[in-house]
Amino acid sequence: MKVHEYQAKEILQKCGIAIPEQIVAFSPAEARAAADHFPNGCVVKAQVHSGGRGKAGGVVICSSPEEAERAADALIGRKLVTRQSGPEGLVVPAVLLTEKVDIDRELYLALAIDTVRAEVVIIASPNGGMEIEEVAAKHPEQIVQIHPGRSLAGADVRVLADKCGLDETQRVKLRDILSALLDYMREKDATLIEINPLGIVRGQLMALDARMTFDENALFRHPELKELEDLTQIDPLERRAREIGLEYVRLDGDIACLVNGAGLAMATMDLIHGYGGKPANFLDVGGGTSAEKITAAFELLMDDPRIKSIFVNIFGGIVRCDLVAEGLVQALRKTGLSVPLVVRLRGTCEAEGRAILDRAGLVRVTEDLTEAARMAISCAGGSR
Ligand code: GDP
Ligand code: MN
Repeated sequence: MKVHEYQAKEILQKCGIAIPEQIVAFSPAEARAAADHFPNGCVVKAQVHSGGRGKAGGVVICSSPEEAERAADALIGRKLVTRQSGPEGLVVPAVLLTEKVDIDRELYLALAIDTVRAEVVIIASPNGGMEIEEVAAKHPEQIVQIHPGRSLAGADVRVLADKCGLDETQRVKLRDILSALLDYMREKDATLIEINPLGIVRGQLMALDARMTFDENALFRHPELKELEDLTQIDPLERRAREIGLEYVRLDGDIACLVNGAGLAMATMDLIHGYGGKPANFLDVGGGTSAEKITAAFELLMDDPRIKSIFVNIFGGIVRCDLVAEGLVQALRKTGLSVPLVVRLRGTCEAEGRAILDRAGLVRVTEDLTEAARMAISCAGGSR
């Protein structure tokens, strides 16, 4: 789960990190009123769950309340497309106004999970700001990574501070910031805390932007975090899937996939990619799924205008193929079928399941996984 910049900054402030004074505005009029608090100018920032806003016109420096109002009017309620948001962009529910500060230098600081080592990694660079991806690609020597392990060593802080060109006072502050953030990360099951830029303002470290991500599977432990969730930032199909209790991830292809079991779903994605197709989604209906869930999942897939074919791949272990077939037939009756449907059914009661689908017609059924994947790809217009 992601949170907005203003929420992340409030958390950073509680961890002892300086942030510019800030006010959230949900309308242009609110933005204008808020700007009165910043006589020396302010920065109006689109609040979306994405970085890259600066380059996309989502960060506007304003020198008067009128300008702030205009900037807010151009952002709130519109969609902002950034290099991280996907082509459809994210709707801007609010803007953040912050006091305009003069930045001496922009550093990069992040705490993330190193998934290979299964531990926290601290990433820092003296070259923060809007080009961090480019720095990582072209000047990897300007990025330093530290694995603090159980406790943060003074020597590690020194490496980070030296790399970022900090003086003694700033190094001590960095140490305090990092230990507070490491504690917070563990306590709240955060998977990412990114401060970019971590500015040096009047000689002091100050978080000028912040992003945080929390482990959704651990949110039951943190009801106070759950409250920070903004549903406007989540894909409507993903939201619906969550309500039905399905594991759904939107991808950028055109072959809708309905699979039971995460492992089989991954294998299905690989297979489609391997033969030159592109999945529109990852969808795991679960190992012991029901006819009702299959119907709901199918309806959800059919509501995606991008899809050109549907690939249902079911292995009946606990679940019975005939019940899956029933679920599909029910869904077909309700929604009709606007694109070709390929079904691969194996396992418990597969003959019964296949008979049900054969009776319903319209469906290409096979037991061979590879053949099924190729059929789904050719129905979607062939490999690319
Ligand atoms: P992002 O593009 O989504 O990462 O948005 P940021 O919040 O990082 O803002 C982009 C850039 O705007 C930063 O790298 C800064 O250069 C600039 N910026 C943000 N806040 C301020 C500010 O208070 N004063 C000044 N001068 N520049 C700012
Ligand atoms: Mn940033």
